[in-house]
Amino acid sequence: MKLHDIDDRVHVLDTQTDVWSVIREITGSGLQEDAFYVCDIGDIVRKHKIWTSYMPRVKPHYAVKCNDSLTVLEVLAALGTGFDCASKTEINKVLSLGIEPERIIFANPAKPASHIRHAFATGVDLMTFDNEVELHKVKEIFPEARMVIRIRCDATVAQCPLGMKFGCNPHTEAPHLLNVARSLGINVVGVSFHVGSGCKDPPVFRKAIFTARQIFDYAATLGYNFNLLDLGGGYPGDHGTSIEKIAETINLALDDFFPDPMINVIAEPGRFYVSSAYTLACSVHSIRAVNVEDPVTGHNTVNYMYYINDGVYGSFNCILYDHQKIIAQPLKKTTGNKFYCSSIWGPTCDALDQVIDQILLPEMKLGDWLVFENMGAYTLPVASPFNGFPIPKVHVIADENIWMLLKDIFPLSESHFVIGNTPANLRLGLDINSTDTWSLPALPITIPVC
Ligand code: PLP
Repeated sequence: MKLHDIDDRVHVLDTQTDVWSVIREITGSGLQEDAFYVCDIGDIVRKHKIWTSYMPRVKPHYAVKCNDSLTVLEVLAALGTGFDCASKTEINKVLSLGIEPERIIFANPAKPASHIRHAFATGVDLMTFDNEVELHKVKEIFPEARMVIRIRCDATVAQCPLGMKFGCNPHTEAPHLLNVARSLGINVVGVSFHVGSGCKDPPVFRKAIFTARQIFDYAATLGYNFNLLDLGGGYPGDHGTSIEKIAETINLALDDFFPDPMINVIAEPGRFYVSSAYTLACSVHSIRAVNVEDPVTGHNTVNYMYYINDGVYGSFNCILYDHQKIIAQPLKKTTGNKFYCSSIWGPTCDALDQVIDQILLPEMKLGDWLVFENMGAYTLPVASPFNGFPIPKVHVIADENIWMLLKDIFPLSESHFVIGNTPANLRLGLDINSTDTWSLPALPITIPVC
């Protein structure tokens, strides 16, 4: 396995150095102007531990669409997860890391024919469907595929509902589809669902698992012997959130409706694994002070408009597409207690490019930094350099313990990591055409003993 991208090299830090101190080091250099991310691999490893301890029976297949960074994929591959791919490009990306096709589910119920051909050519034989036309396509292109019927079961509250696009009605459509599959001789092996991304309705998982049980039973009357249950995505991943309630619901429902340990239970978590691992830092490059009349006191007061170097066409596309609520934190802690009504804007010339409409902030100066946590999910893969503003670079970090752990579980060579003030270290993050970049020597890096 290989880390391909120089930007994806990992900085090994001592255990006292956290994400915020790395951000302070980078911004404190006085050389950094562009927005940048810090990705903490340790956070991903901890998430995996949480997943396996809460839901030991459910094998995660990471949803690549959520954040397709090679570092993320390699770390998850090393930890032993499977992968949910939506397209042939995602399949290629995962396979290029040496991951076996058996660890992939092609979980897109509506696939272009060439992508099905690609799945056939590469041996990715597990895929989802929710309509009759898809069954005919598969019959023609990849008749040996193992198919999973996706049913609809929506959470009452979810950040991004998906049910209006995918998932057949389990009562009125699924039986018909299974009959068609039977008559075409298609090998249907199980049931999947996705309750909606960012699910805030844990009990919906019980309802969905019970409904899946009913489909298993109906399929048995047609002679099918299903052995796969796919619980989809929907698990929260921000700092301060927990999957405990969802896990409790799932474990109980599995005990009640799928006690047979021979049933292979998988899920397709995306944001759970990556959201909190990525922290974005943006600098204030322009400011407008606007005088307004306070509606209560009638006095004149000042509101501030801060322009930062990432916006809704870049990382903050997640506001539009993923309905994320953005929280900005000034990097500098202020001692005073004067706060101003402020708004935060992206760098492009579009008025739509607003990051936060109203926020109370201490007065910010040019070159001050704002930090945005929980930015790892559905941000970078969607970002564009619209108006010529670059997509932020990612600095990947791991503390020594995590580095030792990863070294033990997959054959990374030391060259994948940046240890001390090496040429590779200097290369990382260094754009030779620009002076506004940062290189690592100021960081308190220790050299782990192996
Ligand atoms: N599986 C499928 C088929 C999806 O479409 C998605 C997200 O859109 C996911 C999994 C990941 O969902 P989440 O990030 O909510 O875990």
